Amino acid sequence: MSCLFCQIIEGSIPAKPCYEDDKVFVFHDLHPQAPTHMLIVPKKHIASINEATPEDAALIGHMMLTAKQLAKDAGFAEQGFRLVMNCNSWGGQTVFHLHLHLLGGRMMTWPPG
Ligand code: AMP
Ligand code: ZN
Repeated sequence: MSCLFCQIIEGSIPAKPCYEDDKVFVFHDLHPQAPTHMLIVPKKHIASINEATPEDAALIGHMMLTAKQLAKDAGFAEQGFRLVMNCNSWGGQTVFHLHLHLLGGRMMTWPPG
């Protein structure tokens, strides 16, 4: 399997894990863009949100709710945080296995770059 995040999920490439259940694996981003920067990754390989289907709706909802819980556990849910899902070239996606960025612990700016 050549997909980086599939290899992290199966344990053949190391990562710093934060949380795992039967549907998602969460680990710290290698190049954090905020004091807390986690990646919420579905165990199912989906290349990008463009490839998601209606049968993935519950999984994508679970990714969002997992992020919310992790933000609460990290202590910055009330102050606020950012969830980002990049898609393809113009969206800035570099790893083609669906993932949700959870960024928190500092004030964010808008618009993003
Ligand atoms: P994106 O650009 O939205 O596809 O996000 C991919 C993210 O994966 C980037 O923020 C990278 O810093 C991160 N990343 C790349 N390789 C690794 C790795 N081996 N472990 C953890 N995060 C990684
Ligand atoms: Zn994958």
